[in-house]
Amino acid sequence: MKVGVIGTGYVGLVTGACLARVGHRVRCMDNDTAKVERLQRGMMPIYEPGLEELVRQGVGEGLLEFTDALAAVVEHAEVLFITVGTPSRPDGSPDLSAVRAVARSIGQHLDGRYRVIVNKSTVPVGSGNWVRMLVEDGARKTVPTLTDGGSPGVQAGEPDFNVVSNPEFLREGSAVWDTFHPDRIVIGAESGRAEQVMRELYRHWVSPDEPGREPVPLVVTDLASAEMIKYAANAFLATKISFINEIANICERVGADVSRVAQAIGLDKRIGHQFLNAGAGWGGSCFPKDVSALVSTGQEYGYECALLKATLSVNDTQRKRIIEKLQRELRILKGRTIAIWGLAFKPHTDDIRSAPALEVANQLLNLGCRVVAHDPVVTAAQAHTQVPDLQIADSALGALDQADALVVMTEWPEYPALDLGEVGRRLRGRVIIDGRNCLKREMVQELGLVYVGIGR
Ligand code: NAD
Repeated sequence: MKVGVIGTGYVGLVTGACLARVGHRVRCMDNDTAKVERLQRGMMPIYEPGLEELVRQGVGEGLLEFTDALAAVVEHAEVLFITVGTPSRPDGSPDLSAVRAVARSIGQHLDGRYRVIVNKSTVPVGSGNWVRMLVEDGARKTVPTLTDGGSPGVQAGEPDFNVVSNPEFLREGSAVWDTFHPDRIVIGAESGRAEQVMRELYRHWVSPDEPGREPVPLVVTDLASAEMIKYAANAFLATKISFINEIANICERVGADVSRVAQAIGLDKRIGHQFLNAGAGWGGSCFPKDVSALVSTGQEYGYECALLKATLSVNDTQRKRIIEKLQRELRILKGRTIAIWGLAFKPHTDDIRSAPALEVANQLLNLGCRVVAHDPVVTAAQAHTQVPDLQIADSALGALDQADALVVMTEWPEYPALDLGEVGRRLRGRVIIDGRNCLKREMVQELGLVYVGIGR
């Protein structure tokens, strides 16, 4: 099928490359021309395992191409994905200006041919209707011509399209794997025709030809339910982490070990082990904005989301607890050098949007510390867009020289694999705050270092 993807970020680029991999002809568009030029030269704008190879393959087979012209994508595609960003506004509601701009422009470029417009960006309930209205408005938008002296003209043929919601559940760091192996595909459609197009688009997943390959469950709902499924899933996962962080905070007070508690409660199949790691709290481009957006939707309808507000508040406090732990161990923070391991909001990604590490770094700088950080993939240039005064070390061990304490903020697997003896020798101070409970506590203590974890 001919597919267009508008917004070539983490979601759009991965979606486009994976759809090309299964044989669709995909044209990806972005209004960031520098990004498009880099993609056209085979350079990846993001770090995502397996993506570069997939893109190279798609381009090589002539199934994947990049453009900055929206008209070229609308002209090409039977199915048009909207995958632009929907970041939080200061009041917590999502900023839908990119979705609005794209929907209107799609309308302006539609001709009489039928299209399915797919909202893959995470958008509040009701956005399917709203996008339909914007596309219609765009299509009606008059195009002044020379022959009619600039008076309103009417486009040839009525636009023929349906809007579908197809929320995305991929995780950064394993986005390619997740796209090929999703737990489910959700389609919110109010037209049988659009549903059929989406079934055909996802045939590789939902009706696999290969013997022995299990079909991925396809959940078809109305538009509003599909939109809510995305928010509910993220709100649940964020709440699960805030829950275990709250338990961790009580564990610390009563002398219990949250790692043992999580391990045991996770054995209960109704609970499960995933998302039960206590730590410095969640971040990233999705959980904070999606939980805030759901709270904001509740408010719009006069409903107070008490549980979700608590989820946010526990998460806020959790980052502050890293500073409290440092204050307890070092007393004076002013003039101290603190090493931070890990800047990305989680391992295997270079995404630093709402990363807890950067918030902690900022707080430490404000308190008068020098902060030296290391991350295996986040570059100094990236980090400095958010925290200009952060010093970046070339290696994890290099960050420790002169440091009075080490704080582990992202559980990159290379950190626990480092020689702890060398860590002990390089670190000037004696304190390690393990904000992700990923180091071996006993081994750290055997070296005469002070180990401070979360909830243990
Ligand atoms: P992103 O910021 O990485 O990418 C968005 C892209 O859209 C950027 O390249 C930007 O240049 C482009 N863009 C913005 N305005 C545009 C316009 N008018 N025309 C064309 N392109 C435009 O964002 P992302 O992380 O890929 O997220 C996209 C959406 O998917 C968001 O709604 C997000 O909540 C949702 N989502 C993200 C993830 C994730 O892990 N990143 C997972 C699931 C869902």
